[in-house]
Amino acid sequence: MLYLQEKKQNIQHILAFNLTSGERVFYLDESQYAIGRHPQNSIVINAEGISRHHATLIQKHKENDHFSYVIIDGNIEGYKSRNGLAVNGKRIDKYELKHGDIVHFTKEVTAHYYIIDQESQGFIQKLTPNVFLTAKDSPINSLSTDTQLIQRTEKNPTLSEIKNLASVVELSPVPIIEINSEGTITYLNHSANLKFPDLEKTQLQHPLLQGLIEKQNYNNGSLVIREVDIQEQSFEQHIHYLAKERLIRSYIFDITQRKKAENDLKYHAFHDTLTGLPNRTFFDQHISLMVNNCERHQKLFAILFIDIDSFKNINDTLGHSIGDRILKCFAQRLTSQIRSGDLVCRWGGDEFVVLLSEIENPDEAAKFSERLLQTFEHPLNMEGHQIYLKSSVGIAIYPEDGQDAEMLLKHADAALYRTKESGRNHYQFYNPEMSLEIAENFALESQLHEAIKNNELILHYQPQINIKTGQVYGLEALIRWQSPKLGLVRPDKFIPLAEKTGLILPMGEWVLKTACQQNKKWQKMGLPPVRISVNLSAQQLQQPNLIEIVENTLESVGLDPEWLELEVTESILMKNTALASQTLQELRNMGVYISMDDFGTGYSSLGYLKKFPFDTLKIDQSFVKELNQNSQDLSIISAIMTLSRGFNMRVIAEGVENKEQLKLLQELDCEEMQGYFFSHPLSPEEILNYLLKFNQQKHLIFT
Ligand code: C2E
Ligand code: MG
Ligand code: MG
Repeated sequence: MLYLQEKKQNIQHILAFNLTSGERVFYLDESQYAIGRHPQNSIVINAEGISRHHATLIQKHKENDHFSYVIIDGNIEGYKSRNGLAVNGKRIDKYELKHGDIVHFTKEVTAHYYIIDQESQGFIQKLTPNVFLTAKDSPINSLSTDTQLIQRTEKNPTLSEIKNLASVVELSPVPIIEINSEGTITYLNHSANLKFPDLEKTQLQHPLLQGLIEKQNYNNGSLVIREVDIQEQSFEQHIHYLAKERLIRSYIFDITQRKKAENDLKYHAFHDTLTGLPNRTFFDQHISLMVNNCERHQKLFAILFIDIDSFKNINDTLGHSIGDRILKCFAQRLTSQIRSGDLVCRWGGDEFVVLLSEIENPDEAAKFSERLLQTFEHPLNMEGHQIYLKSSVGIAIYPEDGQDAEMLLKHADAALYRTKESGRNHYQFYNPEMSLEIAENFALESQLHEAIKNNELILHYQPQINIKTGQVYGLEALIRWQSPKLGLVRPDKFIPLAEKTGLILPMGEWVLKTACQQNKKWQKMGLPPVRISVNLSAQQLQQPNLIEIVENTLESVGLDPEWLELEVTESILMKNTALASQTLQELRNMGVYISMDDFGTGYSSLGYLKKFPFDTLKIDQSFVKELNQNSQDLSIISAIMTLSRGFNMRVIAEGVENKEQLKLLQELDCEEMQGYFFSHPLSPEEILNYLLKFNQQKHLIFT
C-alpha cells in the first residue's frame, strides 16, 4: 500500500509571507513553530511591531493521518504578543487555519496560509525551485524587511499565482477522483480525501468507484452522470472518460440538500402536512393501481369514507388549535387500525378515506368499521376537555359498487351522507337508492327557492309546559315546508340547504314576523299571554342589522318584547363570540328573552354561559332520550340543574316523550318541559284548540 502512504503525505501546508521587501514561503511539516523576533524562533521576523514570541503554530491531528495547523497569539506558555494577532482582519487568541486565510502579524507583515497537493507543488517547484523551502531545511529561515533575502527571479510565481495554482484542482471544494483503466487510483484532491476517507481503503469497492471500470467508454468527450447514495448523503458523479490518458476522472457534487428539497416537495405533493397522512393525489395514484391489480386477480377491495361527527362544532367551540390536534389523534387512531397493505388518506377537513385492499368479502369492511367506531369510545383528553369523538362511515365495494375510482368514491360518499342522515356514529354500505336520494336533494335545493315566493312555508308550534304551575309557559315556533311536490318537509332537511344558499335570511325574517303576528293575534283573542320562541340561525345572528329587524318587527306587529324569546345554539355562538355576545346583550336590553338551545351538544366550556345573557337553557333531547334510573344522563342533567341555579337561569328539558322521563326530571327539580308527551308541534289552528283545552288536559297529564 505504498501508494496510500504517498497519497497521505501529498497534502502540504504553506505559510507565504508577503512583505514590502519580498515574499517568503514556508512549508510547514513540524509539530510546532515559534514565530517572532527572537533569533531562536523557527520563523524569525525582524519587523516593526513584531514581538519576540509573536505567535505559535501547532499541528493538530485529524482523522486518517491528516492534520491542520492552529495558530495562537504569543508563545506556548501563554505570553501574548504585544500588539496582538489577527486572522482575516479579526483579532484572535487561537484559531485553526483554513486554506486561504490571511494572518496579520502587524499591519505590514501578513502571511497567506495554503494547503496544496504535492503534485501541483511539484509543478510549482519546477517553475521556482527557490521559493518552496521547509522551515527546517531552509538555509535562511529568517525574514527581514531590511534585507531582501530572496530575490525574485523571472521564474518565481507571485502569491496570486500560487493561490491560483493551489486552488484550481487540489483545493477545489469539489472532490475529484481519478483512476486509470486498470482501476488504480491515480489522483485524489484534498476535498476527495477529506470527504471520502474510505476511498483508499475500499478502492473499487467504494460506491463512487463501483462499475466505473466495467463501463469504460472512451468515445470522444464521453461524460456519464450518475447519482450515488452514501449513507445519508446523495452525490451526483460526473464521470469523464479521458481517451488519450486512459483515465477516468470523476467530479463529485454533493446534492444531499437538493435531494432533500426534492423529496420534501414530493412529500408535500403527496401528503397532508397536518396529519402526515397521504393525501388525495397519492390516493388517486394508488387506487388506479389497486383497480388494475384487483381486476387482474379477481379480488375485492373496499373504500371507506369516514367523517368526524360534529367536527365543525368542535372547531368552532374549542378553537382551531385543539381542532388540529384532534384531527391528528383521529388520524393516528385510524392508522392504528389498518393492516400493512391498506391505506389511510386525509381527504380534506375532517374527512378521511380508507382503502382496504384485497378483502375476502364485504363483511371485513363492516368489521373494520365496527372496530374503528369502538376505538373512539375512549375519550380524548385535551387541555382538560374530555372529548368523545364519533364518526360516520360510508362503504363502497369494488367491483360491485363501481368499476373505477371515481364511481367508488362517489358511492362511498353517498353512503356516508346516508349514515349522517340516519343518526351518525354508524356505518353503511352503499346501495343504489342512495344515489337517487342525493339527486333528490339537488331538486330540493332548486324548489326551495320557490318556496318563500309561493307561500309554501308554515309554522308549527310546540308548547313548553311548566309542570309545577301547570301552565303553558311558551310556544316554540318550528318551521315546516308544505311543498306541493314533496309534502310536508321537516326543517332538518331544508334548513342546512337554506343556510348554504343564503335563503335563510329572508326565511328567518319571515319566521320572526309570522310568529310575532300569531302571538299578537292570540293575545288579542284574550288567551293568557305566552312567550313565543323563535330559532335563530348562525347567519341571522351575524347579520349586522338583526337588532333593527327585531325592533321593527316587534313595533310593526305591536308585540311587547317580553313575549318574544330567541333560541340560539352553542355552536352558533362560537362563530363570532364577541359579536354574538354584543348582539344578544342588546336584544336582552331591549327586553327580548334569550335561550340556549340544544345545550350539552356543542362542547362549549360552561364558562361561556356567563358570557352571554341567557334566561333559559334548553337541555338537548339526546340527554332526555335514554333517561332512566341508572343512566349517566341523570347525573349530567343534575349537574346542569345545579349550574343553572348558580347562573339564575331557567331550564327546559327538550324531547320529553314519556312519563318515566317526566318523573325523573321532576325529581331533579326540572320544572319546564317540552316534548311529544305533552304535544307534538301543531299547526296554528290545532295549537289554538290545545291552548283552549289545556286546563282539562293538564288534569290528564299530571295524574
Ligand atoms: P330545535 O330548536 O331543538 O327544536 C326541537 C325539535 O325537536 C323539533 O324538531 C321538534 O319537533 C322536536 N321535538 C320536540 N319534542 C320532541 C320529542 O318529544 N321527541 C323527539 N324525538 N323530537 C321532539 P323540528 O321541528 O324538526 O326542528 C328541528 C330543528 O330545526 C330545530 O331544533 C331547530 O334547530 C331547527 N329549526 C326549526 N325551525 C326553525 C326556524 O324557524 N329557524 C331556524 N333557524 N331553525 C329552525
Ligand atoms: Mg329550538
Ligand atoms: Mg333543541
